[in-house]
Amino acid sequence: MQNSGEPSFRDSVDLMFNRATALMDLSPGLEQKIKVCNSTYTVRFGVRLRGKIETFTGYRSVHSEHMEPVKGGIRYALSVNQNEVEALAALMTYKCALVETPFGGSKGGLCIDPRAWEPHELESITRRFAYELIKRDLINPAQNVPAPDMGTGEREMAWIADQYARMHTADINAKACVTGKPPHAGGIQGRVEATGRGVQYALQEFFRHPEDKALAGLSGDLDGKKVIVQGLGNVGYHAAKFLSEEDGAKIVAVIEWDGAIVNDDGIDIEDLRQWIVKHGSVKGYAQGTYVEEGAVVLEKECDVLIPAALEGVINLSNAARIKAKLIIEAANGPITFGADEVLRKKGVVIIPDMYANAGGVTVSYFEWVKNLSHIRFGRMQRRAEEARHVLLVNELERLSSDKGLGWTMSPGFKSKYLKGAGELELVRSGLDDTMRTAYQAMREVWHGRNDVEDLRVAAYIVSISRVAATYQSKGL
Ligand code: GLU
Repeated sequence: MQNSGEPSFRDSVDLMFNRATALMDLSPGLEQKIKVCNSTYTVRFGVRLRGKIETFTGYRSVHSEHMEPVKGGIRYALSVNQNEVEALAALMTYKCALVETPFGGSKGGLCIDPRAWEPHELESITRRFAYELIKRDLINPAQNVPAPDMGTGEREMAWIADQYARMHTADINAKACVTGKPPHAGGIQGRVEATGRGVQYALQEFFRHPEDKALAGLSGDLDGKKVIVQGLGNVGYHAAKFLSEEDGAKIVAVIEWDGAIVNDDGIDIEDLRQWIVKHGSVKGYAQGTYVEEGAVVLEKECDVLIPAALEGVINLSNAARIKAKLIIEAANGPITFGADEVLRKKGVVIIPDMYANAGGVTVSYFEWVKNLSHIRFGRMQRRAEEARHVLLVNELERLSSDKGLGWTMSPGFKSKYLKGAGELELVRSGLDDTMRTAYQAMREVWHGRNDVEDLRVAAYIVSISRVAATYQSKGL
């Protein structure tokens, strides 16, 4: 956790914002309008549980409504507070602008330890919280669309969607009131893996640019690169799994809440995940060395460090000792403002959160569009695509036979190729395209201007310019 002497998470985000606006030509009034959080709603509600009334505190903060609906997850954790929710809502505004999802920024949170309650109790609590937010249009397909975050997932989103549908029986677009739902309840394929998948696509894109790699003292591709992951939750797990299984990266350490597992030969992520699911902890996992003080492992030498847990984990107390060449912020705000400065001076390249973890909201956007259009992606095109592929394969085989070459496509490949893209392939390719395009927008500012030192400032400049343009076109 962050040093008490450091600015709060909310102030840290604003200080990063200020670094960017100092290099921009915005009117001070507009700059202030973009920076502030429009509103934060606090609710305290009671739920009768285990024979007594328990009171819970929840928040939904709306940072910017330059586009509507506003978008952002709902977090369940005991550490949730107004400052954190507002910082996260601000990051949502910049994140959505950077990856061009047409949303403003919002975030919600509930002070609760989700592990302390049974599923049916969590359902009552979630429905009651949702009821409070729905009543005030803080959950609404056209105004405010939540999604999963730390401590919540498909299950909670399904409860929220159902609660909204009960309260708005005539709303044909009711399903679009929340994203991250399970596919059988109006969700989309690939949403659960989306944030981790986005981290993978972001790294793949980074490794396509030799000058960028050189700035981090890296070369080659991801194959064999030493990676440390902090947090094997939804984001860290998928990122580590895809990077190791598909790109050949070596996960040399995984840091969890109760210690770390270190193995220089590489950790089998699926195997470790199964262990954690079964035992609730990394402790006792035999395929590596257990280190009780996990935070120290952040300081181990590696090529890529992926903080995928909480904010403020890299702060003034440890930044100078971090040895990673490249840090990709899979979590929101894992590096404090002060630590960011220390790392920059050391030459560490940081791929900032608002870009690195934007895969979640990108696929949320696809889900929202799917809900509003009431049709599964690819449903209308798939046969047409197949027919085109069949034509092409037949023509190639005919030409080959005419020339006496006798080439035919192998039956295994043919059946895969002819099938055309289903929803999952379309979602992944849309996400990949989004991550490439957004990286290039940041990169252009990063390398195209002498006064821009790092990717974070570049990301803020791209986002703030887009938000400013929207405000200006509204006449503000
Ligand atoms: N909670 C995720 C985030 O921080 C996803 C938000 C969304 O899909 O709206 O980006």
